[in-house]
Amino acid sequence: MLMEALAMGGLGLAAALGLGVASRIFAVEVDPRVEEIEEILPGANCGGCGYAGCSAAAAAIVAGKAPPNVCVGGGPEVAQQIAAIMGVEVGFREPEIAKLECTYPLDQADLKYRYDGFTDCMAAVMLAGGPKVCDKGCLGLGSCVKACPFGALSMGADGLPVVNPDKCTGCGTCERVCPKGIIRLTSTTRRILHFNTTDDCLAPCQATCPAQIDIPAYIKAISEGRYTDALIVIKEHNPLPLVCGRVCPHPCEDACRRGQAGDEPVNINHLKRFVADLEYHSGERLPTFCLPPNEKKVAIVGGGPAGLTAAYYLARLGYSPTIFEAQPKLGGMLRYGIPPYRLPRDVLDWEIQGILETGAGVEVRTGVRVGVDIGLEDLRQEGFEAIFLGVGAWASRKLGVDGEELEGVLSGTEFLIKRGLEQETPIGERVVIVGGGNTAIDCARTCWRLGAKEVTILYRRSRAEMPANDYEIEEAEREGIKFIFLGAPTRLIGEGGKLKAVEYVKMRLGEPDASGRRRPEPIPGSEEIIEADNIIAAIGQFPDLAFLEGDEAGKRLEITRWKTIGASGEVGTTTIPWVFAGGDAVHGPATVVEAIGAGRRAARAIHLYLSGEDPTPPPNWVKDPRKDLPQVEVKNIPPAPPRVKMPELSVEERKGNFKEVELGLTEEMARTEAGRCLQCGLICYRRQPQAVESLVCGMEGK
Ligand code: FAD
Repeated sequence: MLMEALAMGGLGLAAALGLGVASRIFAVEVDPRVEEIEEILPGANCGGCGYAGCSAAAAAIVAGKAPPNVCVGGGPEVAQQIAAIMGVEVGFREPEIAKLECTYPLDQADLKYRYDGFTDCMAAVMLAGGPKVCDKGCLGLGSCVKACPFGALSMGADGLPVVNPDKCTGCGTCERVCPKGIIRLTSTTRRILHFNTTDDCLAPCQATCPAQIDIPAYIKAISEGRYTDALIVIKEHNPLPLVCGRVCPHPCEDACRRGQAGDEPVNINHLKRFVADLEYHSGERLPTFCLPPNEKKVAIVGGGPAGLTAAYYLARLGYSPTIFEAQPKLGGMLRYGIPPYRLPRDVLDWEIQGILETGAGVEVRTGVRVGVDIGLEDLRQEGFEAIFLGVGAWASRKLGVDGEELEGVLSGTEFLIKRGLEQETPIGERVVIVGGGNTAIDCARTCWRLGAKEVTILYRRSRAEMPANDYEIEEAEREGIKFIFLGAPTRLIGEGGKLKAVEYVKMRLGEPDASGRRRPEPIPGSEEIIEADNIIAAIGQFPDLAFLEGDEAGKRLEITRWKTIGASGEVGTTTIPWVFAGGDAVHGPATVVEAIGAGRRAARAIHLYLSGEDPTPPPNWVKDPRKDLPQVEVKNIPPAPPRVKMPELSVEERKGNFKEVELGLTEEMARTEAGRCLQCGLICYRRQPQAVESLVCGMEGK
C-alpha cells in the first residue's frame, strides 16, 4: 500500500516537474498591448476588419499586420487611441457605407409566386430563388437588418432595408449575409473603380452609357432638387459633364424604356448639362473626394477627353499625373474639332481647369510631341511609372481623285484645327463638303457662319445612313445647308491652280455586303458638275502614329491593320506592361463619351498595375448589355408630359457668329423632365399601379 502510494506520488511529482519544464519551454509571451487594444475595440466581432473577431484584430495590430484604424466599428477615436498605444500615426482610411442597389420592393416588382411563410432571406432563396422574377432583387425579409451589429439598418415602410449613414460603420456584415448580394459596401474610390457587372441592378440607360454613369441616380436627385448630389454621381464616372451635356450623341436615350414604350425618351443628356451648368454659373467648384497623394507619377500623352479623364481619376486616386500635349492648349478634338457654337471655349476652359485642380493637381506640358520631343523611355527615366497614350485620330483620309493639290482643297480636320488655333481660314462663296459624319456637318455649319453663300454636303450614301447625329443634320438643314445624297466626287476641276468646280457621280445602293450594309456603287454616265471655291474632305480620320516609329519603346507597341494602337478595349493594356492606351487612338474615331469611358478604364488599370495587382477585367463585367443582361418588354408606363425641348437661338440669331446655339434648360424644365424617368432597374420600372398587380401570378412553370 505504502509502495503504491509512493509510486503514485512519484508519478505525480514527475508529471508536475514535466509540466513545469514544458510551461517554461512552450510559454507564449502575450504582448500586454494586445489586451490593452482589445479593451478599446468595440467587441462587436463584426469581421469588418477582415479578422476573425476583435481579439484576432488586436493581435494583428500589435504584430504590425493591421493598421491602427483597421477597426471599422470603432471609428476615428478608437483608431487614435490604438495609434497612441502603438506609438504610430493613424493612417488614412476612406469611409465605406452600405448601399442597397434594389429600389423596387415586393409589392412593386414582378413576382413568380406569393408566399408569406418566410422569415429569412436565405430561406426564401431556397424556394426557386425567392418570389421576385428579378434574380437580383431584394427579398425584403430583413436578414441584413437582423445581422447588423451596429443597428444601422432598419426596414423601411416600403419593405426595403434603409441604411442610417450616421450609424453604418462599413463593417460589411449586411453584405456577407445578403444571399442576393444586393446590399453592398460602397465608397467614392470603389465607385470610381467600378465597371458594370452582371450582378448589378442596371437600368438600360446606365448599361448602354460608355461612361457607365448611374443615370437613374442622378435623375432621381434632380427630380428631388438635390442638384449637387446629381453632379457628384455624374463626376464619379464622367469628369466632363459640361462638354458631354452639349455634344454627347446620348446612346443612353436610345435605350430609355420610356422611349421603347412608344413615348419620347427622357432627355437624359440635357439633364446632365443642367446640373453641370449650375456649377459652372455658380463659379464655385464642387469639392471632390480624393485619396491622399501617393507620389507616384503617371505620364498622360494627349490632352483630349481620354487623357483628361485618365488624369482626373488618377488624381482622385492619389497619383501625380502630367499631361503631355502636342498642341498649345488642352482639349484635343473638343477644342480643335467641335466648333464653339456647340461647345463654347470658356465652358471648355472652365471644365478643363477643374480637372487640373483635382487632388494634388495635374501638371501640364503643352507644345510637347511625345515620340519626337521626348521618348517614352525618357519619360520612364524621368520617373513616370506608367504612361497612357490618348493621342486621338488626327490623320485625314484623302479623296483620292485628280485635282487634290489645287488651292481651295482642304481636309475637314485641317480646316477645323486651323480654326481651333485661331489661324486664317479663308472660305469662298461656294463650298462643297464631302462626307456624312459629324466632322462634315461641323465644317458645313462653320462655313455658313463664316459667310459662305452656298454650302453643299455631298454624301455617297443615303440620309438614313449618315453617321452624324440626327440633331446635327436637322440643324444643318435649318441653317440652309444643301445635301446631295448618293453622290461621290470623281474629279476636282481647277483654273490657274485654284479649285473651280467639283465633278461627282451619282451612286446607287448595290447588294448587301457581309455586314448587311448595301455598298454604294457609281452609276456610269451620271456625272454632274457643281461650281465650288472650296472642297472640304471630311471622309474619315485615323490615328497619326508616326510619332511611335522613331521611338524605341514605341516600336514595341502593336499597330493594328486599322492603324490604331493594339490595346485591350476593356482595360487599355498594351504589349508593354507600363504603357496603356485608349480613346480614338485605340478604337478609331468615335465619340467623346467613349473616350471618357476609355480614360477611366485606363485609370483603373494603371492604379491596379501600380498597386501590384492584375488589371485583367473580372469575368462578370458586362461586355454587351444586349447579350449579357435580360431584355424586358415595356408596357403600362405612367403617362408623362412631353419631353422638354432645349431652348435655342433662332437661325437668324446664329448668322455670322459662333454664339452657342443651345441655351440650356430652366430649373422648372429640368424638374419636369426628371419626373418623366421610370427609375428603371435591371427589369423593374415604374408602372401604372394596377398593371403591377396584374403581373402577380402563380408559380409559373415551377
Ligand atoms: P483627341 O480628342 O483627338 O485628343 C488627342 C490629343 O492627343 C490631341 O490633343 C493631340 O494633339 C494629342 N496628341 C496626339 N499625338 C500626340 C503626341 N505624340 N504627343 C502629345 N500629344 C499628342 N464626339 C461626340 O461625342 N460628339 C460630337 O458631337 C463630336 N463631334 C466631333 C466633331 C469633329 C469635327 C470631330 C473631329 C470629332 C467629333 N467627335 C464628337 C469625336 C470626339 O471629338 C472624339 O471621339 C474624341 O475627342 C476622342 O478623344 P481622344 O482623347 O481619344 O482624342
